Order: sequence, then structure tokens, then C-alpha cells
Amino acid sequence: MLTYSTWFIPFFHFHPIFWLVSLFLYFLPAFLARNKANFTSILILNIFAGWTFVGWIIALIWAVSSDMQRPVAAPPQPSQPPVAENFFCTACGRPCPAGARFCSSCGAAQPAAQH
Ligand SMILES: [Zn+2]
Repeated sequence: MLTYSTWFIPFFHFHPIFWLVSLFLYFLPAFLARNKANFTSILILNIFAGWTFVGWIIALIWAVSSDMQRPVAAPPQPSQPPVAENFFCTACGRPCPAGARFCSSCGAAQPAAQH
């Protein structure tokens, strides 16, 4: 006797959860880009090129990398000394470049430490 389940098992031998997970994984790039400005572009690429593995990878990378367009504060670089500010000559009062030992205007020697 050919029952419903035995007839369909060769075609749907995977659990429905498997299809749901597969569908979610297929649209994962679009899901990650759901809040991005170029969501539509990523979704189109996901739908039309996602069935190719390369297209899916491109859509995924695009969805993730588009988040890096936000300006990110550069981490402090300890190797570089702090930016010294210009100081004013102790003799003539004119501004001198930071680190200068002698005034660029009058040539007077400047103290080593300027604050
Ligand atoms: Zn000076």
C-alpha cells in the first residue's frame, strides 16, 4: 500500500526545519544587511546570485563590510609621541614651532621644556 509518507519520503526526506534553516542561511547576507543603506542591492545580489556559492560569499562580505563605512575613531598609537603644541618665544613672544631649540624669529635659545 502506497501511503502519503512513503510516497513523499524520496522527495522530502529532509526535515522541514532543515529547509527553514537552509532558507535562512541562503538569505543570511540580506538578513545581516537589513538595516544597511544598500540593503536592496545586497538583497538583489543575494536572490539572483546567491545560488552560486561565489555570489553568496560576495553578498555576505558586502553585507558585513558595508557596516565599516561608519567613521571609527582611530585607536591611540602609543609608538608616536603626543603632538607638541607650538609655544611662544620667551624673548620676543612670537610663536615658535614645537620642539624648536631656538626662536625662528629672533634666534633666542629656548628652554628645553615648554609648557
Ligand atoms: Zn624670539
